[in-house]
Amino acid sequence: MSTLAIIGAQWGDEGKGKITDFLSAQSDLVVRFQGGPNAGHTLVVEGKKTVLHLVPSGILHGHVLSVIGHGVVFDPESFLSEKKVLEESGVEVSPQRLLISGHCSVITPYHRLLDQLREGTGDKIGTTGLGIGPAYEDKVGRRAIRAWDLLEKKRLSWALEKHLGEKKVLFEHLYGVDIPPFKEVLEKLWDLGQRIRPFFGDTFGQLHSSITSGKRVLFEGAQGALLDVDYGSYPFVTSSNTSLGAIYTGACGPRGGALGEVLGVAKAYTTRVGDGPFPTEVQGPAREFLQQRGEEFGATTGRQRRCGWPDLPLLRYAARACGLTSLAITKLDVLVGLEELKICWAYKLGGEILTEAYPGLDLSQVSPLYENFPAPRKEDDFDEYKQRLQRALGIEVGLLSWGPGRHETQQFKTYFSSKD
Ligand code: GDP
Repeated sequence: MSTLAIIGAQWGDEGKGKITDFLSAQSDLVVRFQGGPNAGHTLVVEGKKTVLHLVPSGILHGHVLSVIGHGVVFDPESFLSEKKVLEESGVEVSPQRLLISGHCSVITPYHRLLDQLREGTGDKIGTTGLGIGPAYEDKVGRRAIRAWDLLEKKRLSWALEKHLGEKKVLFEHLYGVDIPPFKEVLEKLWDLGQRIRPFFGDTFGQLHSSITSGKRVLFEGAQGALLDVDYGSYPFVTSSNTSLGAIYTGACGPRGGALGEVLGVAKAYTTRVGDGPFPTEVQGPAREFLQQRGEEFGATTGRQRRCGWPDLPLLRYAARACGLTSLAITKLDVLVGLEELKICWAYKLGGEILTEAYPGLDLSQVSPLYENFPAPRKEDDFDEYKQRLQRALGIEVGLLSWGPGRHETQQFKTYFSSKD
């Protein structure tokens, strides 16, 4: 098989960046298909840390073509800053190595402002404030600026006017703030478009021909299944579909609809950033332990992540929502030294026992049922935990990770069967 999807199986921050980087070595193309620069994939290569937000993790491998599909909301300013940081650390970011869909919806300064204003009210969701939500709203509201629009000034001016329309009323009358003038934003976007022009193209056609010719294509998910706008713990979700279906709508549809493998990435425990229900959340010393050892602070915002025990009902649900064919379990090293590990095998809801969550289940109303499990005692003591997860979830564990570095990974399953 020549296509592989990597999807977060929890609330994001599972270590997808590391696993994608590891498997990128075996791929020809690495493709982002949803989300925007709110992703924060941290990669550690030869001791050097790189945080990627918008650019696919494949960029660190010289032989890989990185692709940003049209389902991504594209922030031209943040792309150019990320490009600069990568180039300063010796990574080439050229149109030969990175193709961006001209059909991406564009994040504008107005989106960022709107996001930040909303987060400043009592009604906050805990977003990154980078304009992702407002950009997706405009896409669905059919008033988005598309990357292609940046390349033709008349078209851009028309699109920007439509884009600003209702927002102007919100800014002036609801929030009472001054906004960057239309002309200034127009010139800025036009200039950004000129600088990025060589990167824009038809990623859809490129992906189809690559898949047809047997190239190994890796689809890199951002955030996680439980943050999916439809499958996730609504309304504490991100604004895009983060689960499997987003590949078909945000990048391309492989022939027959089937991807070769769908790999879910999950931490050996659970974390969640921002607000929202979290059934297995821990407090006290265990929380301190997981947070400190796991360095649970967000890569994009620096916010502390909430920590909790492994949650099997949510993993079973994520596996079903995304059609997972295997799992990668990360951050096993964090559990070493823990006095006791608790695994949530089911929830109690009223008189009912639920072994799997479902869309719309009110997670604030469930009580987790735990079994105690021996925590791994040393760095190579992970087999028992791996077996336990495989049995409980009925899914093969294809990779284990016990450190941020590439070498701290063991692969049990073959993801790309051949290179044509
Ligand atoms: P992503 O958004 O899913 O890629 O996850 P993040 O990059 O936000 O968070 C994962 C963090 O955990 C990064 O700092 C990684 O370097 C780190 N990491 C990944 N795998 C492991 C692991 O197995 N052990 C430890 N200790 N850290 C890991």
